[in-house]
Amino acid sequence: YKSTRLDRFVSQNSSYKLSDIQLLLAQKRIRVDGQAADSIQQKVSKFTHVMLDDHCLQNNQPLYIILNKPKGVVSATKDPEHTTVLDLIDHPLKHELHIAGRLDFNSTGLVLLTNDGAWSRKISLPATKLSKTYEVTLSKAVTGEYAKVFLQGIYFAYEDITTQPAQLEILSPYQARISLVEGKYHQVKRMFGYFQNEVLSLHRISVGDITLDGLAVGEWRVLGGSE
Ligand code: URA
Repeated sequence: YKSTRLDRFVSQNSSYKLSDIQLLLAQKRIRVDGQAADSIQQKVSKFTHVMLDDHCLQNNQPLYIILNKPKGVVSATKDPEHTTVLDLIDHPLKHELHIAGRLDFNSTGLVLLTNDGAWSRKISLPATKLSKTYEVTLSKAVTGEYAKVFLQGIYFAYEDITTQPAQLEILSPYQARISLVEGKYHQVKRMFGYFQNEVLSLHRISVGDITLDGLAVGEWRVLGGSE
């Protein structure tokens, strides 16, 4: 969804021509987010509320949801055989949602869903450097060597990239916490795979400042304003 100039938006969503819009503004007949508009150049995005006289031209509500994904649930909005993350959510706007960062079928934890494409793009972009933290259980003991290699980055031949520096915290011989700023395909599993160490369980606990705190497995809630 691209943002558009107000004059284009109004002419595309009414019977007025582009050249009529300046006059409508002068007559104070267009309201943007509750205020009479004063410039035909102002930007209209997906969540801008636009009224022409008493006609509503656009009124979309942004929605952000956090879910604690159980094992065996697909990070997709539809699936022919398995339960999807959307099946677990009961909200009147649920069919507008898309997933901002998927988890594998058997991975668990924090999944964000939204109808705000600009927001999900921003949080997924490596340039945003938002850290995603995972707790993993491993098939072999993890050593201090891993932390050094993860910080330096690992070359992924398939994508021809080197992973961004990742932080590793060893919690016990077979458990660690890893923080990444990107999310390549199966990235965590492939990073431990570099050491031939299989990830037996993977649980995402946070994305930036948003944490799973207090949310039971399978539960969801709407994010608060500050989140
Ligand atoms: N890395 C993985 O390998 N799997 C996930 O589900 C998330 C990150």
